[in-house]
Amino acid sequence: MRILIIEDEPRIRDFLTRAFRAEGFTATAASDGNTGVREAISGDHDLVVLDLLLPGRNGLEVMAEIRAHQPDLPVLILSARADLATRLRGFELGAVDYVAKPFSLDELLARARVHLRRAHELDRSLVISVGGLSLNQTTRQAQLGDQVVDLSDREFKLLRYLLTHVGEVVSRERLLSEVWGYDFDPRSNVVDVCVRRIRRRLGSNGPIETVRNVGYRIAA
Ligand code: CA
Repeated sequence: MRILIIEDEPRIRDFLTRAFRAEGFTATAASDGNTGVREAISGDHDLVVLDLLLPGRNGLEVMAEIRAHQPDLPVLILSARADLATRLRGFELGAVDYVAKPFSLDELLARARVHLRRAHELDRSLVISVGGLSLNQTTRQAQLGDQVVDLSDREFKLLRYLLTHVGEVVSRERLLSEVWGYDFDPRSNVVDVCVRRIRRRLGSNGPIETVRNVGYRIAA
């Protein structure tokens, strides 16, 4: 788990960096708003701890920038500005939490763990797995055994449709209208071509069954 600390006060920055590292996290720090934005946007972090009174760009501006570029990255505001209007503004901009300075380290770490756990669970709910085949809806990759495949838009939508209708026989007509979205042309073989491509790329049929003369099914 990677934590980014954006804090201009060296004493607090070092204290937090050490504290998170002692808890087994990877912690990096930025000491002004502009560096903070750059790090948050380009880096691969799991949580940001953000001070508000910062040189360069203030924390609320940093918050808005992070939201615009990394909407799923949880940001916990840690600030001496504890007035209601600022706190509400922080939440409005998408902060997941607000801790006022002076703060208790134990409470800050406990809250950070809660948000990291929540983000992790959310991430997992974005992966659908059936019969050894899994589909990650964030990265749009399918995995079967050791084989990981980047899917095209159609391949992704077709596989997602089958995986969210497990056990059902899904007809070619239904796949055509759900995935391709145009009126069914009985001569069209785009569905079969797409399924064949997915199977070939995965190196196996996996749980995708052909139901003769009808369509496809992923067995429960
Ligand atoms: Ca500050």
